[in-house]
Amino acid sequence: MAVLTIDLKKIGHNSALVSRHARALGLSIYGVTKVLSGAWQVAQTLKNSGVEAIADSRLMNIAAMREANIPGPYVLLRLPAISEAEQVVVLADISLNSDLDTCQALSKAAIKLGVRHRVILMVDLGDLREGIWPSEFLAFLKSVQSLPGIEVYGIGTNLTCYGGVFPDEKNLGQLISLKEQSQAILGHDLLVSGGNSSTLSLLFENNFPVGITNLRIGEGIILGRETMRREPVAGAYLDACILTAEIIELREKPSVPVGTIGQDAFGNSPQFADRGVRKRAILALGRQDTVPEGLDPHLTGALILGASSDHLIVDVTDSPAVRTGDTLSFSLGYGALLAASTSRYVKKEFI
Ligand SMILES: *Cc1c(COP(=O)(O)O)cnc(C)c1O
Repeated sequence: MAVLTIDLKKIGHNSALVSRHARALGLSIYGVTKVLSGAWQVAQTLKNSGVEAIADSRLMNIAAMREANIPGPYVLLRLPAISEAEQVVVLADISLNSDLDTCQALSKAAIKLGVRHRVILMVDLGDLREGIWPSEFLAFLKSVQSLPGIEVYGIGTNLTCYGGVFPDEKNLGQLISLKEQSQAILGHDLLVSGGNSSTLSLLFENNFPVGITNLRIGEGIILGRETMRREPVAGAYLDACILTAEIIELREKPSVPVGTIGQDAFGNSPQFADRGVRKRAILALGRQDTVPEGLDPHLTGALILGASSDHLIVDVTDSPAVRTGDTLSFSLGYGALLAASTSRYVKKEFI
């Protein structure tokens, strides 16, 4: 069985590194657990190494972490669904929001359950995923301000997710300006949640706009990379998560299929370069376990040729000798890690 090994010491090191640097610049970090399916071991590690709160996109993950008695506070990252408003106010201390109907549903749920729910209102600064357009923001804020049971706790933005827009002084400056206008309306301070791991290179270049007070960091801690250019965070471990799988066939074969070539198992028409006879390892790993395109083999000279649902084909001709029954290990990109974490076919091992 494929195994995803998650090194909690390395994640703790990365979390402490990012949190310490952020704190020195006056920012708090929300540690994001969603890429590892809200594993409580990871949440505990993050809480023990400097993050202010645990943030996840799924209520189910937050429920499981609460069940495991990991102290919050908990932040719901994905915009709440109206149909889940009551669970949101029970499970999350803070949620990110951009819709008035949803805020009204949260208000009703909070009143009914006798709690106060904090919201961070999201501004869309051009990336075109969630958020209120800046010109509509202050009117929206005033509507939410009047809702009972709801506290406007902060304002935030999310960049480099859908549109791939970089954070810069201009767009983050716009967020800070909206924060100042919002504070004048509300009469109290607001958290300014300036983004995700794409902001880390700005943070580590000490080139951070004054006024941002919080970041929500997942990949930067778990995989040790900022996400503007996917450069390593200096001093962070890049190998906290490793995927391993076993070789189930090892044979020499031609590099071009024999016969008339139509479509592969997924309806694609594959292309092949003739590199002569090659030594090919088949691994017990496939698209049901991970995203093969996001894997980077550790074995020197190994080259991933392709994958189907349950098989990964790796050219090991130029590698040190391996045998059937050996395991190969891989580093994972974000998508590959996300898929491995959510696959029930992949065993998770925390070390
Ligand atoms: C996933 C997510 C994050 C964290 O993103 P990383 O790139 O993993 O740091 C932050 N904010 C929101 C709203 C998210 O959905």
